[in-house]
Amino acid sequence: MYKTKGYAAFSASAPLAPYEIQRRSPKKHDVVIAIDYCGVCHSDLHQVKNEWASAVYPMVPGHEIVGRVIEIGTAVSKFKVGDLAGVGCLVDSCRTCNDCLQGQEQFCDYGRVGTYNSIEKDGVTRTFGGYSQSIVVDENFTLKIPSNLELSKVAPLLCAGITTYSPLKHWNIGPGKKVGVVGLGGLGHMAVKFAKAFGAKVSVFSRSEKKKADALKLGADEVILTNSPDKIILSHNKSFDMIIDTVSAPHDLNLFLQLLKRDGSCVLLGLPDIEPTINIAHLIMGRKNLSGSLIGGIAETQEMLDFCSAHNITCEVELISPEKINEAFERMMKSDVHYRFVLDMKTL
Ligand SMILES: [Zn+2]
Ligand SMILES: [Zn+2]
Repeated sequence: MYKTKGYAAFSASAPLAPYEIQRRSPKKHDVVIAIDYCGVCHSDLHQVKNEWASAVYPMVPGHEIVGRVIEIGTAVSKFKVGDLAGVGCLVDSCRTCNDCLQGQEQFCDYGRVGTYNSIEKDGVTRTFGGYSQSIVVDENFTLKIPSNLELSKVAPLLCAGITTYSPLKHWNIGPGKKVGVVGLGGLGHMAVKFAKAFGAKVSVFSRSEKKKADALKLGADEVILTNSPDKIILSHNKSFDMIIDTVSAPHDLNLFLQLLKRDGSCVLLGLPDIEPTINIAHLIMGRKNLSGSLIGGIAETQEMLDFCSAHNITCEVELISPEKINEAFERMMKSDVHYRFVLDMKTL
């Protein structure tokens, strides 16, 4: 076994506390990564609180991991000791189904192996995430991290970055397209950055005037306040090619469907616990699409990191020490973070 220190949740209600993790011994295709930084994703909070009803405790969250390779297995060819390396939401998949063969491991027919709160393909070994000093991962699920970007700001690209990059690519966003972003949090702020970098015109939908200055600073062309829907429909009716909705709290989607152009797509990234009521006429009139998207495959995640390197794109983060994790969770529940907490695991 490979022992390392980390922070774990021991129940849905207790605060996270220090924990000694027992990881698998490194195998011939594994790299061992000393973790420098780990982002704090909103899904960590859902998982810790067992809101997806699949929690197994102790649970070590964290799937936005960057660090340095400190050990490699005998068959490793992509990495050498000392290389920067990253791990996102997946650490394995069946590798043989159609989705895996097409680089869409996140949709693996036989169940992807999540970076934490998951079971390895051996059916026994539990996975523990990046709120820890080190992690053992197969090189095929390890990402190369560009050296020209600030490492702490790269960590959230591994989930927040790919979750927004992948749908913008899939729906061919580029110059001449108009994109709306709903929710300006960890995901939303990256959607703004990527949509701008792809050459689109970007509007941010927000309930609060307070976010306006921030949205414009991030590169948005305009901010549309959602407090008077009738006015919005009058001035923005049928004008968007794509609306990327990052909000996981229950909310009305009918407004956004009306704002799409013919053949436009509203793409959902959040998972509300109450099903929305859709007026199907909004889809029929204009052949519109309501879709969802889930992170991205390993090859596309690498493509995203390389794109960020070439265009100097990183996340806006608040760097904190790991013992502040419970405070960070409290603040996230109040949407009080600009825009992602990142744990400095070197201070553990
Ligand atoms: Zn995440
Ligand atoms: Zn598969």
